[in-house]
Amino acid sequence: MSGNITFTIIKPDAVSKNYTEAIFEKIEKAGFEVLKRKDVCLTKELAENFYEIHKGQPFFAGLVEFMTSGPIVVAALKKGNAVEDFRATIGKTNPLEAAEGTIRKVYGEMVSRNAIHGSDSDENAQREIRFFFTPEEVEF
Ligand code: UDP
Repeated sequence: MSGNITFTIIKPDAVSKNYTEAIFEKIEKAGFEVLKRKDVCLTKELAENFYEIHKGQPFFAGLVEFMTSGPIVVAALKKGNAVEDFRATIGKTNPLEAAEGTIRKVYGEMVSRNAIHGSDSDENAQREIRFFFTPEEVEF
């Protein structure tokens, strides 16, 4: 059975356009409880570690540059079937291909500026939460 926790990042493009609160409203309307959130600025090293699975991809350097270009907001979210349902809520990686009404469709511009991250598995949700939050911050 799938878990009830996932993890999200409001990316620098969305934060700089002041979309953060509208996006969290949409997340809550979709049935997710925001367990914990905080503002973060990624260093190059942290961004490289977070996206290490994509090392070697042609878009990797641009992705790291983008993710370090301004503040982000990270959050742990709770809902039944969290990972799958949240991926549906945010839509496809490329906003131009995302379904109407999804967060990436509404707030994203293009694949390299797609407004929001959502974990793609329960294991990665746990890893990503541990990456950004101390154990004391996520006692839930
Ligand atoms: N990305 C990009 N160019 C691409 C593919 C991906 O800039 O051609 C970025 C994009 O921000 C995406 C992130 O890399 O969200 C991680 O890619 P992944 O394929 O894991 O997509 P996601 O799980 O975020 O939908």
